[in-house]
Amino acid sequence: MNNLIITNALVLPMGEDSKSFAGFVRVRAGKITAVAAGAPPEIAEDEETIDASGCVLMPGLINAHTHLYQVLLRAVWEDLELMPWLKRIYGCARVLTPEHFYAGTLLGCVEAIRSGVTTVCEHNFLNPNPECAFETIRAMQNSGLRAVFARTIMDTGAILPDCTKEKPEQAFRLIEAILAKHKNAGPLTFMTGPNTPPINTTPDLLREVRRFADANSIGISAHVAESKSVVDAVRREHGRNGVVEFLQQFGIPGKNSIFAHSVHVSSDEIRILKETGSSVSHNPVSNMMLGDGVAPVVEMLRQGVNVALGTDGAASNHSQDLFDTMKTASLLQKVHHQNAGVIKPYQVLKMATSGGAKALGLDSLCGTIEVGKRADLILVNIDTVHHQPVNDIFSQIVHCAKASDVQTVIVDGEIVMRDRQLTQLDDKKILADAIAANRNLIERVSGLAF
Ligand SMILES: [Zn+2]
Repeated sequence: MNNLIITNALVLPMGEDSKSFAGFVRVRAGKITAVAAGAPPEIAEDEETIDASGCVLMPGLINAHTHLYQVLLRAVWEDLELMPWLKRIYGCARVLTPEHFYAGTLLGCVEAIRSGVTTVCEHNFLNPNPECAFETIRAMQNSGLRAVFARTIMDTGAILPDCTKEKPEQAFRLIEAILAKHKNAGPLTFMTGPNTPPINTTPDLLREVRRFADANSIGISAHVAESKSVVDAVRREHGRNGVVEFLQQFGIPGKNSIFAHSVHVSSDEIRILKETGSSVSHNPVSNMMLGDGVAPVVEMLRQGVNVALGTDGAASNHSQDLFDTMKTASLLQKVHHQNAGVIKPYQVLKMATSGGAKALGLDSLCGTIEVGKRADLILVNIDTVHHQPVNDIFSQIVHCAKASDVQTVIVDGEIVMRDRQLTQLDDKKILADAIAANRNLIERVSGLAF
């Protein structure tokens, strides 16, 4: 592992204060050992110097919710609302193979790295074959990213093909096998969860998920209140006012829980999120693409709920670009509230960094640039016509920066992209393999009736 000294950077530490300064960061054995303004007093012989002139040095972005394999399904099912869209996504499980998951996940990881993401949370919900999960994890490990694999469960639902319905006990044994195989597997952690309650999860499963998560000391990831139709279902079938309220009786909200979307949640439910310490992954591009609605992010932030940002899968985004998501998150709240000052750029940038780290239980490791944390860092070129002149660096990172401005990406102290060249992966081969997997998948999908 390299010892690094990154000099001449505009450093955005992304702590509690919105400060920035011209300075340097030192990394030894994967850990940040110095962050300071000015030039380093000395450079050790065993340190590699990275001259970051013209660049912002900031924490790597954290994509708190996605389905990486879905890059194979970009722009396949458009113009559909959540339920008919979901019917196709679920139905696809009948023809998905472990090879599709490997090829798609690896391409999704390459897109993530090239757009400045250093941590990705894969919300895994289709397991027609246990190997699909193992191949997804293998691709994530090979990518060099810090990763969270949230292996979720579905046990009911009219739109669910039989190959994806699992009995809770059977699913828990498979998750135990995943945990046993990947103990101490570097920058990789695990979660479980009910996929889309209540339409794909029975009350029995919900009860067991909390017990299983606690017994294995892992967190819970779930799709929550993504569309009005899900809330209608919880009212009709369970007599509850909302999905969060419904989940509370099973102990699903909690400090280690992350709820993707949370678009249709009431003020009372936001209070439950705050009181239980639950986090939300806000996925504005996906919500807009599927016509879901606007998540009450401003109220969540006002009440003190921890909010992270996610792209969601490329089947409903259609990219894995978190810069694009940050700008969308900012503009969507401004237009929704018809108030240009309703959300600050620094709040948005925190969602994509420290908010994501906290949501995934990784805040002691990453999300900010601080001495003692692991070195998950990116260099963003601001010496470009679309960045200059710089007047407000936080606003400009949220509203001007593009994925292609990311020059260098460091994960756990390892340089995984340098000057836009991947150092550990053959992106041409990964792309060719993904295109072949896509052709095969689309041919198989064309034989399905939805
Ligand atoms: Zn999702």
